[in-house]
Amino acid sequence: LIEARDVALSFGRTPALRGARLSVAAGEILAIMGPSGSGKSTLLHCLAGILTPDAGEIWFDGRRVDTMGETERSTLRRDRFGFVFQFGQLVPELTAEENVALPLLLGGSRRAAALKEARTWFERLGLDGLEERRSGELSGGQAQRIALARGLVAHPEILFADEPTGSLDSLAGEQVMDLLVAAAREQGTTVIVVTHEPRVAAYADREVIVRDGKVSSFSDAGVGA
Ligand code: ATP
Ligand code: MG
Repeated sequence: LIEARDVALSFGRTPALRGARLSVAAGEILAIMGPSGSGKSTLLHCLAGILTPDAGEIWFDGRRVDTMGETERSTLRRDRFGFVFQFGQLVPELTAEENVALPLLLGGSRRAAALKEARTWFERLGLDGLEERRSGELSGGQAQRIALARGLVAHPEILFADEPTGSLDSLAGEQVMDLLVAAAREQGTTVIVVTHEPRVAAYADREVIVRDGKVSSFSDAGVGA
């Protein structure tokens, strides 16, 4: 469904990706692991069309993403991708329910329908009563669950999740992963999740490791690939 072909990207003199290759099948739940600074977030942003690689290609559903114009690319992101950022990134001016409804509103849904749909996620994620809060009035874990709901609300074909359980304790992290996986299976969503935690990665169908800007499969890890 989505593929990175020999992707390289540097931030100034810092190479973040150097020839990363990854292919993810439709319906697959893939965990990306690897040390801090190895390029996981950068790879996810390249796949999702948020960053443009210096070299290499990104393909989604038979179309080349990295060479698309910005308008076409943002339409693709809006209509077919969901993204949960590493640090939540809720819009502080909006309430929690408006944040969740945002992808629907941007996609042209009416406000009442979008908010109604958004509210269904609060109960599912144990967020009842927080609908009207702004992000400054939420704990880190609550904000992260709201970011997850925002990523899933528009039924994306691919959900990109960068450390979605990063500020949750392990029980809450498992609850979030249970929900994420259940929602993904139910909606047929492909999930690409970056995580440090082996317990989170255990939810995935497959794991890969990013090291020094390259991707190796989990079984290669032990031989220093
Ligand atoms: P973590 O597990 O800590 O989130 P990561 O594997 O997601 O790490 P990336 O965020 O992809 O790592 O960063 C890869 C490299 O690129 C690091 O050396 C990082 O310092 C650098 N980098 C990432 N984003 C930027 C940026 N916006 N400007 C400059 N350097 C950056
Ligand atoms: Mg990261």
